[in-house]
Amino acid sequence: TEDLLRVEGLSTRFFTENGQVNAVSDLDLRIERGEVYGVVGESGSGKSVTARSIMDLIESPGRITGGEIRYRNPDLASAVADDYPDAVDGEFVDLLAVPERIRRSLRGTSFSMIFQDPESSFNPSITVGEQLAEAVEVQRRASANPRSTRARTRSSEYSLGSYVLSTMLPSKRYVTEESRERAIELLELVGIPDPIERADEYPHEYSGGMLQRAMIAQALAGEPDLLIADEPTTALDVTIQAQILDLLSDLQAETGMTILLITHNLGVIARMCDRVGVMYAGEIVERGTLSDVFDDHVHPYTEGLLGSSPDVDRAGGRLEPIPGNVPSLLDHEMGDRCQFADRCPKAMEDCLEHPPEFDAAGSAHHEVRCVLAQTEYDESRALPPEYFGEVD
Ligand code: SF4
Ligand code: MG
Repeated sequence: TEDLLRVEGLSTRFFTENGQVNAVSDLDLRIERGEVYGVVGESGSGKSVTARSIMDLIESPGRITGGEIRYRNPDLASAVADDYPDAVDGEFVDLLAVPERIRRSLRGTSFSMIFQDPESSFNPSITVGEQLAEAVEVQRRASANPRSTRARTRSSEYSLGSYVLSTMLPSKRYVTEESRERAIELLELVGIPDPIERADEYPHEYSGGMLQRAMIAQALAGEPDLLIADEPTTALDVTIQAQILDLLSDLQAETGMTILLITHNLGVIARMCDRVGVMYAGEIVERGTLSDVFDDHVHPYTEGLLGSSPDVDRAGGRLEPIPGNVPSLLDHEMGDRCQFADRCPKAMEDCLEHPPEFDAAGSAHHEVRCVLAQTEYDESRALPPEYFGEVD
């Protein structure tokens, strides 16, 4: 297997009136072609900002302030090599080193995203079938003319925050019979019954689960290399949730596409993913295969997330798996110690010396940002959470 995406040193900040929010700090992420990679963490840990950074969907006052997003795409690499030689390294293109219009042109065709809320992906006044057909046509034109990197926008007053509407639709309504047929195929692919009739319905005529399926169809219309799913099932009831996850698994198995799955739900991760990164305070703190992270985790935060930490129980038997909160990332500097130290039941003096770097922890893929990757926990050097001040 080869890497499809290499995110290196990514930092994304929001410059708000109240100060600077370092939502993602120096984040590294490698996603292999054909895998389902999970990113898990509490809300506020920077998962969605990571996804939106990859999609180039960070809006003012936010900005990507550093790093590289390197995407393996030989066609793109040769198309941009003359104009942006510094952005190209072999088959990889650093998307942060090419103009925005090139990044935009990849949305929907190289990278697609599905969200918790499918309404935001559809224009309520256009039938589902027609919107899918338009998405298909965007892809057709992109593949007919791979060197074309102009933004494909259709001016639209409509703004529900949907990148799809602002970037994927062609500048003129232009739906061929062929695209319409493909739209119906897509509806069928995602398990919509009576797709021919359903294609002519408007988004509000779909149930929540059906609209979720239609959103997946829309994301697949451009045959993306990478599908980013941000909490794709969080808003659905458990039965529908399971059906949608099964659908994503089946589609992944059929098409071999790569999925980046973002969720706070470890059950979803366990069910879907090959590898997983655990995110805390804007950084990945532990990453590895499913079994590395579920069975052989090293980072106390992972342990806390899994709810299996006897030390956390000792710390007061709270119902919350991990006492304290994700630090407010407002004016939060990386500082010179571990980000998790003030919540960590195993914090030691060593943890105050510098922020831990990734260290190998056993198997090939397993890496942890924690002194415990290399050092045994030593109670005699322990610093209780109280050391850092009031936890709650
Ligand atoms: Fe806890 Fe120290 Fe590991 Fe940070 S480095 S997670 S404080 S043990
Ligand atoms: Mg989120």
